[in-house]
Amino acid sequence: MTKSILEFDREHIWHPYTSATHPLNAYPVDHAEGVRIFLSDGRELIDGMASWWSVIHGYNNPVLNKALVDQTSKMAHVMFGGLTHEPAVKLAETLIKISPANLDHVFFADSGSVSVEVALKMAIQYWQAIGRPEKNRLMTIKGGYHGDTLGAMSVCDPVNGMHSLFTSVLPKHIFAEIPACRYDEPFDENCFTDFLDKIERHADELAAVILEPIVQGAGGMRFYSPQYLKMVRAACDKNNVLLICDEIATGFGRTGALFASNIAGISPDIMCVGKSLTGGYMTLAATLASSKVARGISADGGVFMHGPTFMGNPLACAVANASLKLLLESDWEKRIPEISARMDKGFAPCRAMEHVADVRTLGAIGVVELKKAVEMEKIQRQFVEHGVWVRPFGRLVYIMPPYVISDADLDKLTSAICKVVELQK
Ligand SMILES: *Cc1c(COP(=O)(O)O)cnc(C)c1O
Repeated sequence: MTKSILEFDREHIWHPYTSATHPLNAYPVDHAEGVRIFLSDGRELIDGMASWWSVIHGYNNPVLNKALVDQTSKMAHVMFGGLTHEPAVKLAETLIKISPANLDHVFFADSGSVSVEVALKMAIQYWQAIGRPEKNRLMTIKGGYHGDTLGAMSVCDPVNGMHSLFTSVLPKHIFAEIPACRYDEPFDENCFTDFLDKIERHADELAAVILEPIVQGAGGMRFYSPQYLKMVRAACDKNNVLLICDEIATGFGRTGALFASNIAGISPDIMCVGKSLTGGYMTLAATLASSKVARGISADGGVFMHGPTFMGNPLACAVANASLKLLLESDWEKRIPEISARMDKGFAPCRAMEHVADVRTLGAIGVVELKKAVEMEKIQRQFVEHGVWVRPFGRLVYIMPPYVISDADLDKLTSAICKVVELQK
């Protein structure tokens, strides 16, 4: 290599949401193991991010490694058009079994954003197929995040959604106010008024409501009341609008329930999963649909118009099967509330800080919200100096560690966060 890795990276490679000419610092990683990321310069970091919600069983997990190697020696990939295979069938069977009731058809997609596109297309195609083509708009709540492709962007927060640059080419959907009722506060029906008003007013043109159940992730790390979600489900039913739950971040135990929809005891018509589906090994997502939706689309010889090249990739399905088995056979139901309580305790010093606006935890998600936006490059360096990997955005310092993190490592993580947050005043 003529240039160092870092030099070539800086000059030629785009990282997420960065400038090509003035990129933020990137840290070269040599390897990762359990909850530790080992940098090329020998430093080791305790991981608080699970590589964006995905690495739930830790890095370099022997069980997942083996699943991948075993599948590789059979076939890494075959097309899904006209062919099928056991890894995909087994995965669909598990997803149907563990997901909220009534979701019994599975579409495999190659990333979360694509699974959202698929969900939106399913909703649009459904109403066309049953003779209501005018029901072709979408409704969502502000403060949401559903991905970076055009359809997904059109339902992200219209102001803070990083996507205001594209307003002119995005379809205009209906946005209700951010749910004002927090998860940990008594529910006030007034917080649902705006949503109810809008869904009733637009019912005749609405195909679906799409939202992140309970936890709004990349749009602001907010936790809202399960009662609100229950009322969304009831309002969708009453107004004949489909409900899409984007469980890409919340799925597979992250909130303390297997799916966040379960906390509210609701079942969506369409559901997206991704991120931790493969334990963070490879990109794979899925869109699940009810029989009502699937039969509607398929009535009179209708077909669903989507089919990615790498649909149902056997390697990804095999590692997802192994990851789900690990999860379901683990004591996640006991461990995640423990992680929650321990983070809450660990963040106590932050609560007392003048420049901290709020501290909240739900499941294995911990958030310290500052009053002012952080300086990314500086705070990132400080975290690395304190031996942890935490990547804040805006005013939010947050973690969603691998579920396998030990108490000792979790304490180091929260203590480093409190020290670094203290430095931001
Ligand atoms: C990350 C995320 C997506 C997008 O998934 P990608 O795999 O990054 O395309 C969509 N919705 C939610 C809620 C997410 O957290």
